[in-house]
Amino acid sequence: MSKNFNLNRLLRQNVKNLKPYSSARDDFKTVGEQMVFLDANENPYGTAVNRYPDPQQTKLKQVLATQRNVQLEQLLLGNGSDEVLDLMYRAFCEPNIDNVITLPPTYGMYGVLAGINAVENREVLLTENFELDVDAILRKQDERSKLLFICAPNNPTGNIFDRDTIVELLEKFNGIVVIDEAYIDFSATNSWLKELDKFPNLVVTQTLSKAYGMAGIRLGICYASAAIIKILNKIKPPYNVNVLTQEYALERIQDVVKIKNEISRIKEVKKELFKQLLQYDFVKKVYPSEANFLLVKVDDATKRYQQLLQHTIVVRNRSNQPLCENTLRITVGTEREVEALLTALTQLEQ
Ligand SMILES: *Cc1c(COP(=O)(O)O)cnc(C)c1O
Repeated sequence: MSKNFNLNRLLRQNVKNLKPYSSARDDFKTVGEQMVFLDANENPYGTAVNRYPDPQQTKLKQVLATQRNVQLEQLLLGNGSDEVLDLMYRAFCEPNIDNVITLPPTYGMYGVLAGINAVENREVLLTENFELDVDAILRKQDERSKLLFICAPNNPTGNIFDRDTIVELLEKFNGIVVIDEAYIDFSATNSWLKELDKFPNLVVTQTLSKAYGMAGIRLGICYASAAIIKILNKIKPPYNVNVLTQEYALERIQDVVKIKNEISRIKEVKKELFKQLLQYDFVKKVYPSEANFLLVKVDDATKRYQQLLQHTIVVRNRSNQPLCENTLRITVGTEREVEALLTALTQLEQ
């Protein structure tokens, strides 16, 4: 850990002073079923969703804590990991005073959230090989640098970063290092979850939106020290994860075999897609990927993007991102979807 790391120093004064909203369901959740709840102005006539959700999502967290081998106190759930990232800004970044460091080309929401929260976004480009430029990152930090966002595997480049490099940043960055593991389940590398106890300035985020196939229910997961989680809990909206999401997630995350099979299948299809893409003349490079998408360099990305649209295929043009000139990001779909993509690409060639 950085010698200068001091959670109390990082925390915003208003959050420190805040008395959180105390919800009715927070007060009496352990007594459970036999209680008569006349405290929250709900409609008493039963539909499955007439009651407010458990603000602490205890059942769901218990399963997640067991599966991921972390303590309940190291877990916070959000309305997608986008909400978790937003909470990080709101807890630690004083508007118009503090700054964060982001590492383009990377996930766009880090920068958007900086804008929404009126926080300076200090960008440090990855190197030409999409590696972390540690010296440049450390040169950019000052005493107002609160958060550093590392996306691993990185979106849109698909690569993971050297572990020792990340350790060096965890040791030398004076703020909190957020490692966004949205794509970790597709990667052969280990999650940083195991390092939580070693680095009190480490926050790991994951999501059910990608590998787990539940983008529609919006569930993001934040793992950090109990001290950091306590702070985020204090400022999160009390009912941020709805009843339907909690129930659906609880059911599906226990279907471990099904999820594992889907991930293997996506990885197989990715391997095949990688190979096939290299056959087209207008494809200049396909980047190796630890995620469920491929970044593809083509002759003219805007032209190819438009042509694919005409074939009713939507990919993501990443050309306006630094170091990503003339690239398209293609999600690995079903076998049939990939077939449709390849058929369309073949027609573009003629
Ligand atoms: C998709 C994505 C997310 C968004 O996750 P949600 O849980 O759906 O909000 C976060 N980070 C990265 C890098 C992503 O690609």
